[in-house]
Amino acid sequence: MNILVINCGSSSLKFAVFNLHETDAPLWSGLIERIGTHTPVSISWSDQAQKVHFEIPACQHRQAMEWLVDKFDQLGITATLGGVGHRFVHGGETFRQSVLVTPAVLDTLKACLDLAPLHNPANFEGIELTQKVFPHLPQCIVFDTAFHATIPEHAYRYALPEKYYAEHHIRRYGFHGTSHSYIAKKARQILQENDCDGLGMVSLHLGNGCSSCAILDGKSVDTSMGFTPLEGLVMGTRSGDIDPGVCLYLAEKCQMPAQEISDLLNKKSGLLGVSGVSNDMRTLLEKEKEGHGPSALALHVFAYKAAQSVGKMMVALPRLDALVFTGGIGENSPTMRARIVEHLKCFHLFLAPQANHTHGKADDGFIQGPTSLAKVLVIPTQEEWLIAQETLELTGTRY
Ligand code: ADP
Repeated sequence: MNILVINCGSSSLKFAVFNLHETDAPLWSGLIERIGTHTPVSISWSDQAQKVHFEIPACQHRQAMEWLVDKFDQLGITATLGGVGHRFVHGGETFRQSVLVTPAVLDTLKACLDLAPLHNPANFEGIELTQKVFPHLPQCIVFDTAFHATIPEHAYRYALPEKYYAEHHIRRYGFHGTSHSYIAKKARQILQENDCDGLGMVSLHLGNGCSSCAILDGKSVDTSMGFTPLEGLVMGTRSGDIDPGVCLYLAEKCQMPAQEISDLLNKKSGLLGVSGVSNDMRTLLEKEKEGHGPSALALHVFAYKAAQSVGKMMVALPRLDALVFTGGIGENSPTMRARIVEHLKCFHLFLAPQANHTHGKADDGFIQGPTSLAKVLVIPTQEEWLIAQETLELTGTRY
């Protein structure tokens, strides 16, 4: 039985087909981009032998999904599917774990759409479209927020009057849960195989979006993102933590409307804002080599805040056994890992330069130096795999 994983964004549709009994890698995966714009839609997909990229005329999500179903039919994939797993960004306080799609679940989910207006409506549309094209298949929803349902109240509450929590549900929720949950499982496995006591760890997901998570006995006990994914680390285009007084100043003194402040903090800040040139880490590392001051500063701010966030997460743990790097930057940039860990000397964390250089590939992912008090690991995240796994578990009883 194969599992189809769908991640439907506002202008994109990411998909992957897994046979979890055979291999952890997807049999087939791809990305449809620029959906719902007036430009041609870009499609790239790969199987285990080839990568293909091409364009089709401008279209909406429904046509993109129909293209996918046609492709599945041609490749003989449709008949092999046993279930569909969907990524859903924000499940609020209602959805604390993955669920099977039922009419009642869909009704409750509608009440959560406003919690993440940029993501949830698109995720919801993905579920409805999939139900139309694969009405016979069971579907499962995996929430980015659910892994953080175990965070204690003192960590998820803001110091605001009670009514803002009670009436408006303003609290810290946390995101990137599928990635941190995967890291929690995988790191435990690696640590146990290496006879390490994997009790308390910090997972540092550094991609376009960045977040940290404190994990105790496999459960999230704190995370850096909050009511929205804006809180916490410096990201590609998001500011991360800033004094809320800055927003008041921008509104009152600069007469900036809420939408403009939102665009500034979500789309024009972070690495892009400080460097003035790019949100892409590889570009900034190149620019820094060429002597571009603002790019160098952006990298320094990024590394410092990421290290600070590790310290913040450590407060939630009895002790730190392992720090795990993941995400595009965390997995691929020895330089940024080294700069972040350099700020963590006060916690006696050190890297082994050679192991760091090769991303720990020869050492089960371990990159810490011999005198480091805690292990440091690089683990490539596999969010789609985790969604497929949860889907298999939830739908498995039906087969
Ligand atoms: P997303 O959050 O969109 O899934 P990714 O996890 O793919 O993003 O991370 C994208 C980031 O990873 C980009 O800033 C990219 O420059 C960075 N990245 C990818 N490969 C490398 C590399 N070899 N060195 C440094 N940064 C890298």
